[in-house]
Amino acid sequence: MDFSLSEKEQKLWERAKAFTHEHITPRAHELEKRNEFPKEVVQKAFEAGLMNLHIPTEAGGPGLSLLSETFVSEATGYGCAGIATSIMCNNLAFAPLVIGATIEQLKTYVEPLITGKEPKFGAFCLTERGAGSDAGAVATRAERDGDEYVVNGVKCYITNAPQASLYTVFASTQPELKTKGLSCFMVPKSKATKIGHIENKMGQKNSVQSEVIFEDARIPKDCLVGKEGDGFKIAMTTLDKTRAGIAAIATGVAQRAVDEAAKFANIRHQFDQPIGRFQGISFMLADMGARAAAARQLTRYAAWMADQGMRNSKDSAYAKFFAADAAMQNAMDAVQIMGGYGYITEYPAEKLMRDAKLLQIYEGTNQIQRVVAGSAILKESANLDTGFHVKYDGRDAPVM
Ligand SMILES: Cc1cc2nc3c(=O)[nH]c(=O)nc-3n(C[C@H](O)[C@H](O)[C@H](O)COP(=O)(O)OP(=O)(O)OC[C@H]3O[C@@H](n4cnc5c(N)ncnc54)[C@H](O)[C@@H]3O)c2cc1C
Repeated sequence: MDFSLSEKEQKLWERAKAFTHEHITPRAHELEKRNEFPKEVVQKAFEAGLMNLHIPTEAGGPGLSLLSETFVSEATGYGCAGIATSIMCNNLAFAPLVIGATIEQLKTYVEPLITGKEPKFGAFCLTERGAGSDAGAVATRAERDGDEYVVNGVKCYITNAPQASLYTVFASTQPELKTKGLSCFMVPKSKATKIGHIENKMGQKNSVQSEVIFEDARIPKDCLVGKEGDGFKIAMTTLDKTRAGIAAIATGVAQRAVDEAAKFANIRHQFDQPIGRFQGISFMLADMGARAAAARQLTRYAAWMADQGMRNSKDSAYAKFFAADAAMQNAMDAVQIMGGYGYITEYPAEKLMRDAKLLQIYEGTNQIQRVVAGSAILKESANLDTGFHVKYDGRDAPVM
């Protein structure tokens, strides 16, 4: 087992960390006060080649692995989870297209967005007011009309929607079939796509979310991704991959909390010694460090599995919920270690805490990740022989 990075991976990791150090960490607090999309930083990230990493070379992208993407997500997440979300959101928006669209479709709809001088954006449109964790409850409709589809509905909480030129939309083509009637479409921005309510958030204020309203949005039939009815499968396969990206942002937050708290614990003196010398503080730092390290390994393993073509639903769920919980716990501990400074907005810890909370909610809440992981464990156990044979309720095999 080799945990070392290849030369190319190491270079990307170093480049992303240097970018964060120069362009994200020093500006994140000031930009957050604006409560808007961090355009200049995202432009610089685009110029530095840190966006759209997984788009295949045939469609103008660098065709990098999911593992490589996690390096950029962790590095940028260390500087600011909101800016990382803004930079990495195209990964979520375009992943369903990389999974389900043909190379011709990618060349027509995605290549022009990633190869210009300015960054252009996609937005992943699954969630609706009545369809959050229960994605099968989507009410947005796409109806075939000759050589076109007509899309009607309202999506909400959509990251980068106001910036987006292309919406990846999950809409029902056969509502009576529920999840089996969902289909995936590319819907270019037009007069029939409108931005609704823009959300105000607790944290990650350096990213923007809004409603998107589709009013008789007519799209050519070649905007259908895969076949009618493939939508739910495409959405779930997408999330299996992109959850490693969220876990990586969370790992960045978890690590930043360790570093800021440790720095403070070395500097701050009480009772004539640095507070880090108190076992009560150093044990907290040890737990925080272990959480960040474990989150990193789970994240990279889940991404590596996807890169090998292995099914990673359970492992990407582990990575997402563990890393997001680690980020939240570490951020709370950093606030605690920093005492009064931890609670004051001009210092780093309270922003980490507000930003971390979202990591437990978006791209499938941490409860939903546990639903995915728990059901996978139960399924695997149906064929498991632990070597210890005993009957429960007179049975030695589960009744499924
Ligand atoms: C800032 C932000 C950015 C977002 N970006 C996007 C985006 O770009 N694109 C997009 O499509 N969506 C996006 N979302 C939506 C996000 O993915 C959903 O908010 C999330 O999936 C939860 O859905 P919900 O908010 O409707 O909560 P609900 O599904 O209503 O859940 C409410 C509570 O019930 C729990 N719950 C629900 N079902 C179960 C269950 N079976 N077992 C146990 N507990 C359960 C949940 O875990 C949660 O605690 C974003 C959300 C936010 C806040």
